[in-house]
Amino acid sequence: MDPLISLDSQVCTRCYACFRACPVKAIHVHTGGSIPDISIQRCIGCGDCVMACAPKAIKYRSSVNDAKALFESGDKIVAMLSPSIAAEFDDISDYRKLVTMIKALGVQHVNEISFAIDLLAYKYLSLLNDFKGRYYITSIDPVVVSYIEKFHPNLIGNLAPLVSPMIALTKVVREIHGPEVRVIYIGPEIATKDEALKYEGIEKVDVAITFEELRQLFKEYSIDESNLEYSSIDGPLSYKGSLYPLRNGFAQAADMDENLLTASMFSLEGKKAMVDAITEFESNIATIQRHFCITFGNNLNGPGITRRGDLLYKEHLVIKYANKRLQNFFRVEWYDNLQHFLELDLSRAFTADDQRLPTPSQERIREILAELGKTETDAEGCLECGYANCIEFAIDIANGFTAPEMCISYAIKSSSQYEKSLHDLNEKLAQARKSLRESEEKTKHEKESALQASELTNAMLEKLRAGVVIVDNMLKVVKANTTFTNILGEEAELINEVVPGLVGADLNRLIPNNFITLFSYVLTDNESIENRDIKIGENLLNVSIFPIVKGKVAGGIIRDMRAPEVQRAEVINRITEVIDRNLEMVQKIGFLLGEGATDIEHMLNSIIEFYKGENKKLSS
Ligand code: SF4
Ligand code: SF4
Repeated sequence: MDPLISLDSQVCTRCYACFRACPVKAIHVHTGGSIPDISIQRCIGCGDCVMACAPKAIKYRSSVNDAKALFESGDKIVAMLSPSIAAEFDDISDYRKLVTMIKALGVQHVNEISFAIDLLAYKYLSLLNDFKGRYYITSIDPVVVSYIEKFHPNLIGNLAPLVSPMIALTKVVREIHGPEVRVIYIGPEIATKDEALKYEGIEKVDVAITFEELRQLFKEYSIDESNLEYSSIDGPLSYKGSLYPLRNGFAQAADMDENLLTASMFSLEGKKAMVDAITEFESNIATIQRHFCITFGNNLNGPGITRRGDLLYKEHLVIKYANKRLQNFFRVEWYDNLQHFLELDLSRAFTADDQRLPTPSQERIREILAELGKTETDAEGCLECGYANCIEFAIDIANGFTAPEMCISYAIKSSSQYEKSLHDLNEKLAQARKSLRESEEKTKHEKESALQASELTNAMLEKLRAGVVIVDNMLKVVKANTTFTNILGEEAELINEVVPGLVGADLNRLIPNNFITLFSYVLTDNESIENRDIKIGENLLNVSIFPIVKGKVAGGIIRDMRAPEVQRAEVINRITEVIDRNLEMVQKIGFLLGEGATDIEHMLNSIIEFYKGENKKLSS
């Protein structure tokens, strides 16, 4: 069975009108503006959330299909009509046409709930006249009964132990038509749908539908009054029970004393009246010493009525209908019926279904009030949240039923704080954007400089007469100049044509192992090798290798000793080295050999000058 109330999150606009309408906080709102959720355990079936939800996201459980199944069952069916029909079907010319329309659905008999009101009124009179010091709250409205069972279970003993009008008439019609007869209730409330599920046997109501659903069924079965005749309501007929939908209607039906000086019962109607009256009953009944007749007020404006508002107009329609019904009233017959059915057992028991929650600690309440910007002495509040004061609101925040955002002043304060933090965030973002732009400019500039430097380095490398190669720690070529390629020979030149600068080439495949060993040594030990002569085939190479990035990049300068300019430069270098190294010795020899030694030095210097001159010519 679907829950009595459900919420379609696709339709919900998060206006929270339902939350404010619910008298028992069965609708919960969570921080962050989420879709509210409904606690069916706490729900008392008043239907106020259905009426408060403008986009119709909240719906009550439909019984239309159950009703159709009942009509098509072929069973004998009795429909029980609430006296509120007059307030709903003012578009139907005569209530007798409405009776025929209901029978056209597949119903054999149509009875009035009003007779059950008369019957219960008498039962109440005798209970209250013999109350033995216990004060009672009427149990005619299932919403009030559910409210007491769930939120004031201490008062279960004060609920009048009598069935509701719907169940009372069900027993009457089964007494008349036998226990097999099927029963459908038609009224303005939705709590009757769940109430119907509680009973079995001769008290069982097969289906309870609203006036709204009855209209839907008329439409689906294409039933219209225009081609139908009048039909009468089946007996037993009522007396003043048809006044029940009016304010004080039950007291009127029971002919109870309504004089405030002498009456033994207060009549109260409406959501707030119900909540306040039951709270007062609990705390002050010893002093008040009155019975309470309480109804939620759904008879003329319930969730199952299609037309909202216009209460006085609806009251007028009900009074007009009651007067019309009384035109054919036969007191003796009514009285006989009453006496007969008063024999029925209309008693019932109640079951506590405690949904109360422990009150949070004073400290926690104070903390929440402080968060809301309130104190215990300043907690009356604007009541816009739907609570009686800020403390009750704080209690429900502590219980997880609502969120601080439901407080308008808190929401406004949070919103301005949010706007300020948004403003600060925007400023930070603008600053970050500016820094990013500057950084991009700088990077672009550095990139251009690096490109220029790279081009310059490449150009310089190409100008060098020595071969240059730079490798990474995997011995892959990072950069090499053309001289290096030429020194290595034809195979390297071919690779260079495909991959300029031999970038990415494996050095292992370009040079022999003894040469590789030198690069590996430099990369591993981070030590330079200078002027090492190595022989590759017929070539004599002079090699210097040095670390560029420790353990990661190394560079090599390779000179082909066969090249004339290298030979000359090398001869000059090496002779200069010989001269430098032996200068001291030569000078000592000079001392020993006199002029002869000076001649030797002259001779060596002239060789140096000769080669230097040749080198200049070659360079130019
Ligand atoms: S009243 Fe309807 S639309 Fe508004 S929050 Fe409740 S379910 Fe959503
Ligand atoms: S039907 Fe009434 S009690 Fe249930 S959730 Fe809606 S407003 Fe609350």
